[in-house]
Amino acid sequence: MTTTIKPTSRNQQLFERSQKLIPGGVNSPVRAFKSVGGTPIFFKRGQGAWLWDEDDKSYIDYIGSWGPMVLGHAHPEVIAAVREVAGNSLSFGAPTARELEMAETITTLVPSMEQVRLVSSGTEATMSAIRVARGFTGRNKILKFEGCYHGHADALLVKAGSGLLTLGTPSSAGVPAEVAAHTLTLPYNDIAALETLFAEIGDQIACVIVEPVVGNMNLVAPVPGFLESMRAQCTKHGAVLIFDEVMTGFRVALGGAQAYYNIKPDMTTLGKVIGGGLPVGAFGGRADIMQCLAPVGPVYQAGTLSGNPVAVAAGLATLKLVQAPGFYEKLSATTKALMDGLKQAAHQHGIPFSAQSIGGMFGIYFSEQVPTSFDEVMATDKEAFNQFFHSMLDAGIYLGPSAFEAGFVSAAHGADELAGTIEAASQAFSALR
Ligand code: PLP
Repeated sequence: MTTTIKPTSRNQQLFERSQKLIPGGVNSPVRAFKSVGGTPIFFKRGQGAWLWDEDDKSYIDYIGSWGPMVLGHAHPEVIAAVREVAGNSLSFGAPTARELEMAETITTLVPSMEQVRLVSSGTEATMSAIRVARGFTGRNKILKFEGCYHGHADALLVKAGSGLLTLGTPSSAGVPAEVAAHTLTLPYNDIAALETLFAEIGDQIACVIVEPVVGNMNLVAPVPGFLESMRAQCTKHGAVLIFDEVMTGFRVALGGAQAYYNIKPDMTTLGKVIGGGLPVGAFGGRADIMQCLAPVGPVYQAGTLSGNPVAVAAGLATLKLVQAPGFYEKLSATTKALMDGLKQAAHQHGIPFSAQSIGGMFGIYFSEQVPTSFDEVMATDKEAFNQFFHSMLDAGIYLGPSAFEAGFVSAAHGADELAGTIEAASQAFSALR
């Protein structure tokens, strides 16, 4: 079953025209609804937890632009900050006081980041962090985990998740084998495999990069001991531990997943929430590692729009608001209440279904048990998810268009949105029987 959008709908017309000019009609593959089928929705407005499409249909949003919109859409304080700063020029290509304020905010809230540099996307952040880690250690090999996505830099498109997983291809054409050869991959949550690899070639590994909570193969949480073992192995063998918190940063807790699990990485990458919906990324960590960066050290990294004043203003306004007392407690409670409601509705209708949340991030799975590995996520019932997705979309509930994406709740989601979502889910589960 796919959503019935009338052929004359503006959504449909826009998609048809877009496909002629933009590959697949979209500027990032997961937006194309390839995995679930049907026509992607073209949005024109958002407010709080709600979105409106080009046909004026409204939706409760559980994607939040893939994570950044932790306050909901068009928060008045964020919009006011953007307006104010934009009036003073959109870019200088020179240092500004706001960048310093952002560095102070990030290093205070994420203390493992002793120094930080701003970039314009999560991809730039991870790519740059890896280059610094290689420059610092003088080693080439990097280790990542199956199902984790760290952006689309060549070296990281090796058994990556997210859009690539959705499209069913394990890696990308156009990446030279020689580049990928330095990237080792292991199954996520496999502590024994991690320890074996380090015992064999630990002294050749420049860095380990990991999503401390994976949000790119649906949501997969680390099993107890996994992150701890990674920390211990990296310390023992002199490898740099990079937590990719582009998604989890300011999403699962104020200090990110490293605060949630109380593990201190050597480096951290951020994105999404720290731009409040505008393009900002950041990488940072131990000062001795960050001092390898140009102009101080030999590792080159740069960006014309890095630290862009308007984007930084949106990020700073967002980071100010998430520091309100009780912000993450409330966000976590809302997200958990949604999961409880969905589980209850599924069980009432006899549907094998599980769900979990960490902070404002969630995973829903058409399986009896919550998955803890890539293989277990792959074994969930994708056909059931696709049907559920389209029933929900028809009812005005906008979920990620793939069984392999995490979902996001914002501070603007309240009791009405939850009740409406659970009611729609109950109908959708009943249609699955
Ligand atoms: N790292 C993680 C964990 C992500 O989820 C993403 C994007 O979804 C990225 C890196 C890449 O960020 P961007 O899309 O801003 O380049």
